[in-house]
Parts: sequence; structure tokens; C-alpha cells
Amino acid sequence: MPPACQVCGNAAVAPYHADAQGALYRCAACTFVFLHPIPSADVQAGLYEAEGIGARYFPKAERKLARARGRMRKLQRFAPRGHFLDAGCNGGFMVEAARQAGFEAVGVEPDPASVSWAMEHFPANRFVVATIEQFADGADEAFDAVY
Ligand SMILES: [Zn+2]
Repeated sequence: MPPACQVCGNAAVAPYHADAQGALYRCAACTFVFLHPIPSADVQAGLYEAEGIGARYFPKAERKLARARGRMRKLQRFAPRGHFLDAGCNGGFMVEAARQAGFEAVGVEPDPASVSWAMEHFPANRFVVATIEQFADGADEAFDAVY
């Protein structure tokens, strides 16, 4: 039996994608797509080290930024402006797209190599090396949109 939606709690979720790393589900009510089960912190850390997520991701930077701008235009239907957080920002493409769209944007990412790349290429944004749990612990910032 699939899990309930992690955002709205709706039980009507359907398989969206599955591969060796896990299964994604899509909520019929709010369209949120989520991974279930969420891998442990140790497994997640191992993915960054073993697979070189950042190194594999960044050669397509221009395409990634173009896609991020497209996603940003869709997101702006719901949150036209304000304070934007990308939880798991990788190379910072959505953060940069948000900034270009007029948001005050923050990227949080546990992989230091990815954040280093993001800070070098998108220096007008704020990036934090942390898990979202570490970032949220004790934080007093509020966000208009979270990606
Ligand atoms: Zn939902």
C-alpha cells in the first residue's frame, strides 16, 4: 500500500517512478511528488560520496539553469515573489532562477562541493552547507516558497 501524501495527507497517491534507488509517488490531490521511504542520513551521505552527484550534474549547467527558469515561472503562479528556499539546492540552479525572478533566494545543501560550485557560479545568492533539518533547527526565517 502506498504511503499518504507527505504534504496534504491525502491517501490517493500513485506510483510515479521507481528505480534501484527508490520509488517516487505522486499525490492525486496536490500533485506533490515524493520519495518513499526516505533513505537514512547515512545512505544519503553515501550517495553523494559514491556517485559524485555534483560532478555528474554540473557539465549540463546551462540546460539545468534554463529548466530551473521554466520551473520558476510555474512556481510563480503560486508564489509570485518573496523569500525563496531551495531545500537540497545542489548546484544552486533553482536558487539562481528564483533570484533572477525577483525572489530573495536561499539554497541549503549538505554536499560542500555542490555549495562551493554554486557560490562560485551564482555569487549573488546565499547558500548554506547543511541538511534541511540542520538548517531548520533554531532558524527563525519564514519563506513564501520552498522547493
Ligand atoms: Zn498531497
